[in-house]
Amino acid sequence: MIQNIVIIGAGPTGVLLAHYLLRRGNYHIDIYERRPDPRLTPSASLRVNVSRNRTFPISLQERGRKAIREIVGLESSIAAQSVFCQGTIIYGKKGKVRQVPRQNPVLTIDRNRLVTILLQQLTETYSPNQVKVHFNCECTAVDGTAKTVTLKPEQGDSFTVHYDLLVGADGARSRIREYLVENAGLVCSQSYVPDAYKSVFLSRLNPSAGVELEPNKIHAWNLNNKIRMLMVPQPGNQLNGVIIFEAQTNPLEGLSTKEDVKAFFQENFPIFGQLMSLEEAEALRKRPVARVLTVRCDRFHEGDSVLLIGDAAHAVSPSIGQGCNSALEDVLILGQLLEQYGDDWGKVLPMFSEQRVPDAHALRELSDYTFPRQKLLVVEFFWRLTVRRLFHQWFPHWVKPFVFDLVLETDLP
Ligand SMILES: Cc1cc2nc3c(=O)[nH]c(=O)nc-3n(C[C@H](O)[C@H](O)[C@H](O)COP(=O)(O)OP(=O)(O)OC[C@H]3O[C@@H](n4cnc5c(N)ncnc54)[C@H](O)[C@@H]3O)c2cc1C
Repeated sequence: MIQNIVIIGAGPTGVLLAHYLLRRGNYHIDIYERRPDPRLTPSASLRVNVSRNRTFPISLQERGRKAIREIVGLESSIAAQSVFCQGTIIYGKKGKVRQVPRQNPVLTIDRNRLVTILLQQLTETYSPNQVKVHFNCECTAVDGTAKTVTLKPEQGDSFTVHYDLLVGADGARSRIREYLVENAGLVCSQSYVPDAYKSVFLSRLNPSAGVELEPNKIHAWNLNNKIRMLMVPQPGNQLNGVIIFEAQTNPLEGLSTKEDVKAFFQENFPIFGQLMSLEEAEALRKRPVARVLTVRCDRFHEGDSVLLIGDAAHAVSPSIGQGCNSALEDVLILGQLLEQYGDDWGKVLPMFSEQRVPDAHALRELSDYTFPRQKLLVVEFFWRLTVRRLFHQWFPHWVKPFVFDLVLETDLP
């Protein structure tokens, strides 16, 4: 019977998985996370911290929320620190504004805030004898034969721990997946999406400039088909989001002072420019550029002792906002299989791969291709969306919903 579970990565997937396993009662869990504890980061420094708090708003729909709902009290704690957005406002040149409403409001929450709530409830519900979360501690090596992992704390010497089950919940650049590729014949392809991004943290209000953006709408601005911004209101009148650009052409690269950065936004994204403090302009200048890696694996397990889950197993492009939803759904499916097979990991792990791999591959293709990149095709996309929604409304038996609506509004596999 498996008792000691080592989870690498305290992201949304790793921490939600710990909730699911601990409520079954049979397990002792150690989670190792290379970043610092997000609960110790005050929200003010979250905004200006340059490198340690790479975070962004995540939208969660039914696919991810049904997994959270299984843990008593979690969904309401998350909802209390989220903003429900009712659509998107797309800004254009010369002040042109287009509204894209949504059928159902979408829950949006900052990634680090989501992890903080998951961690808080985990450590309040279970004792340190059942679960320990070790921050600033990076997994550097795996020995699948001896069933050990090597960990390197930020301070001090590396050490080794034994596992009965090892879970790679360590995101798109998973060390555990790398071990399986090199040593266990896992077939995996990885590629970067063409875009790169930087996180941006603004205030939603600037009373002196008379700017107040709507509190329950996502705010999007396409400068051209190479540079765009997506900003999401968050509690406390914050506006968190990203500037997205082609990886080879970082528009902020040549800007050497905070004044230059602010001037860039005032010229190109005037509304967001008016909401940017000089403090944020300086932090943004120094914040590293992030790239998104997508991952396609032929299975998500090895024998009865190693599991890949969430982004470590199937990272996708964020273009349709489903990576985290599907990562959380992994945990729900795993929980159902544990129930079905009475915690027999020898049966649960292959069944998990069998059930999840086709879904993961489909999601990767949808994320890569559903939203067009070229300007003309974007126009065509919105035309198709409008027509399809209308026809589905008029003739629901004959015309299926638009693919976006199926992905975003349902939990259809
Ligand atoms: C800009 C952007 C916007 C997004 N928007 C959405 C959205 O709207 N909706 C949605 O559903 N998804 C969205 N996503 C995707 C979502 O962020 C991911 O799918 C989700 O975070 C996956 O969670 P995870 O726990 O599997 O991985 P991660 O969140 O990547 O967490 C993995 C954790 O493992 C840790 N780690 C990594 N390596 C090691 C190691 N060797 N040792 C110890 N710890 C390690 C990392 O520090 C990290 O904390 C977005 C992604 C991006 C980049």
